[in-house]
Amino acid sequence: MEKSSYVLFSKLVRGPTIKWENQSISRKNHLKYLGVTIDHKLRWLPHVIEQGKRAMDQYQHLCRIAGKTWGINKNIRRLLYKTVIKRTLCHGAATWGHNMTSRLQKKLDSIQRLFLLYITDAYRTTPTAALQVVTGLQPLHLQIQQEATYARVSRARSSSNFFTLIFSPTDYESENSGIHTHPPNFLLHKQISLAENHIDSGAKAVYIDGSKTDEGTGSAYCILENYGIIASWQGKLGHSNSVFQAEIITIRMAIEAASSLHKPIEIWTDSLSTLMAILNPKSHHSMVREIQTLLHSHKLIHLRWLKAHVGYLGNECADQLAKEAISKGDPFFLPKPLSYLKSEIKSAALNIWQDNWDNGETGLSTHDIVPRVSNKPVGWNREEIMFVSGHGPFPSYLLRFNLRTHGNCSYGEKGDPMHYATKCWFTLS
Ligand SMILES: [Zn+2]
Repeated sequence: MEKSSYVLFSKLVRGPTIKWENQSISRKNHLKYLGVTIDHKLRWLPHVIEQGKRAMDQYQHLCRIAGKTWGINKNIRRLLYKTVIKRTLCHGAATWGHNMTSRLQKKLDSIQRLFLLYITDAYRTTPTAALQVVTGLQPLHLQIQQEATYARVSRARSSSNFFTLIFSPTDYESENSGIHTHPPNFLLHKQISLAENHIDSGAKAVYIDGSKTDEGTGSAYCILENYGIIASWQGKLGHSNSVFQAEIITIRMAIEAASSLHKPIEIWTDSLSTLMAILNPKSHHSMVREIQTLLHSHKLIHLRWLKAHVGYLGNECADQLAKEAISKGDPFFLPKPLSYLKSEIKSAALNIWQDNWDNGETGLSTHDIVPRVSNKPVGWNREEIMFVSGHGPFPSYLLRFNLRTHGNCSYGEKGDPMHYATKCWFTLS
């Protein structure tokens, strides 16, 4: 009982007294649940502060461990940030990331800034915006809102806005949770073979293929008998559909066609990854699950792998038909894959970051040299950052921060980085 506590979400000041066997359960202003600090006013600042402390602890531990044996260069520091620190700071983003306030944003900026300074070893006055661009690490609040939007659309299946864009769940594939087939009942290993043993025998068989080019995505199957096509289907998918989706949909269509034959039949594909997906009893993909169910009830149908581009007649026919299907197949609507949603939100975030960078008031000298933001680091070392940002041991910098009464070099000219690099007699050599 002493381990229990409660949080009251109410405007009441006093609130109720909760007792358990005459012992009062203590009331708290916030509690931690699954690693997320939930505050009684549903403000997320306490959570962010808490995670900020945790992240700093982790970082110091990691540096201490690493520092003893191999030192730690800026690429590794960046990697540590991305893989450990950022994950800590983004923890539970799906729950709280959508209520991004400017206070929260400022706090996140100040936390991220510390790490950016560690990574770059730049002067402590260097603008955050410049450090973000140089390291290719986008503002934390953007990262968090990105994750929140993705979780809302893909998992909670509700419409969600990301700044001015609206993402609707009906445009995207849904993911199933839980286990579809209890593993002991999953018997598809007998029906799916990954061994290469195809021969062009002229016997009746089905061949499938999917194709994706800049023009679009197509999928097709054909049934061959005595070296001739006796039936085929061509489907034209959307631009944003993946080749995996093309393969999967055509396998489903082929199984439906093959099941009407009521005879043993083999379906051949050159896509190993598709067969592996169907062999996975834990797959979350809804169409993969449909295929698993279909195969379980049609035991005469076998799925087999064959090598592509080695001249097998059926494979060549299916390949040709799938390519043609991109332009002249039956239009077939499939929601976009979730990977597409992820990349759409990612590029939207990049645009917003770009906008802020273009219209920001800080880091102008860095902007002149790196006008485009990117998730990749620019690759500058400490001195290069000093030179570009002007935040380094230059008279112009010392004057700006009141550490000197004038900003000139010893020859009386303006002592900024460009002067030393190109004109100054002191540094000419
Ligand atoms: Zn000079």
